[in-house]
Amino acid sequence: MSLQLSAIASSISPSATLGLNATVTQLRSQGVDVISLGAGEPDFDTPYHIRQAAKEAIDAGKTRYTDVSGIPELRKAIVDHIFEHKKLRYEPDEIIVSSGAKQAIVLALQAILDPQDEVILPSPYWISYTEMIKIAGGKPVFISTTPDTDFLPTPEQLAAAVTEHTKAIIINSPNNPSGAVYSEETLKRLAKILKDKESEYGHDIFLISDEPYREIVFDGKKAPYPAAYYDNTLTCYSFSKSLSLPGERIGYIAVSPTATDADILAVICGQISRGIGHNCPASTPQLGVAKVIDETSDLSVYEINRNIIYDTLVDLGYTVTKPGGTFYIMPKCMEEDSVAFCNKAKEYDLILVPTDGFGAPGFFRMAYCIDTEKVKRAMDVMRKFTEECYK
Ligand code: PLP
Repeated sequence: MSLQLSAIASSISPSATLGLNATVTQLRSQGVDVISLGAGEPDFDTPYHIRQAAKEAIDAGKTRYTDVSGIPELRKAIVDHIFEHKKLRYEPDEIIVSSGAKQAIVLALQAILDPQDEVILPSPYWISYTEMIKIAGGKPVFISTTPDTDFLPTPEQLAAAVTEHTKAIIINSPNNPSGAVYSEETLKRLAKILKDKESEYGHDIFLISDEPYREIVFDGKKAPYPAAYYDNTLTCYSFSKSLSLPGERIGYIAVSPTATDADILAVICGQISRGIGHNCPASTPQLGVAKVIDETSDLSVYEINRNIIYDTLVDLGYTVTKPGGTFYIMPKCMEEDSVAFCNKAKEYDLILVPTDGFGAPGFFRMAYCIDTEKVKRAMDVMRKFTEECYK
């Protein structure tokens, strides 16, 4: 085994949130009525007609290998969808269909990183980025943010974090775990800083924009599309959340047409997929998603849930920033040790996630991708737990 990779692998902790799923299953099998705000997995059925679309593909025997970059129908559907909604025109060759956003980000990093290249991560960041960067040979560089800026990096922080070794920055808007949404103004400032630094250091700096929550934005707003503001953008998307089908593993990378060597980068991503043994995403979800590209499952429940949770937390005296999107909220714990705080909640059969692994010690994450009745029950327990342990 490669010594370097085995050292990295042994430093990777198992997924904190999916590990909690196992705990929940175990407790439920023991008859405990546990309420989980743990995993970010929509607890809803994939809408019937979306399942039908994939089923028709199976029934038609469309179970062969596909093109390594995905089936032409889906790549064309993605191109048309982005043009209609974001007004950015890609060529189908600039789209690589992937097995979820997770694989898309891995391909993007593997395609652009040289050993020891730095990748900037504004924290809080999604838990998997650090291991993905290390496995691709890169070095994560963290920027810590605070509730004062709604957990978004300031221009000064960004400018200070970029060095001659910076190859990329990963942003995730709307953000897991904070729920923050990057505004147009923030994206414009970010783009200007990156462009200036590209000129100063004389090499490309890529923006990897991770967008699995693109459609889940509240208060009648839309999330601005980062690729519209910066040429060297690799957009990573997943249908897991918008269509409630995380287990089907379907997403894509869109290499911006304006990115340096966009056509070559897209081919490299496909070749890496083949080289690492992934080859192509499963055929039937590709065919299914191609038929429902402009649809989502019912996402309105997330705003209802956010409002209930936010109001309860404020009432209980938590310091909390109102999320602009996603199905997460990240309040400050009532004590410094977030693991101890979440363990106390577990005594009340309520599963919360400490966000130390997301680069935000002292906070916790609640995932509200469950039905509203369960959210209301969870808030009753939250009230009891908070009042008994911290008042
Ligand atoms: N990026 C973020 C921020 C996520 O929260 C997730 C999943 O929870 C992913 C990427 C991966 O998405 P997928 O499971 O569809 O690959």
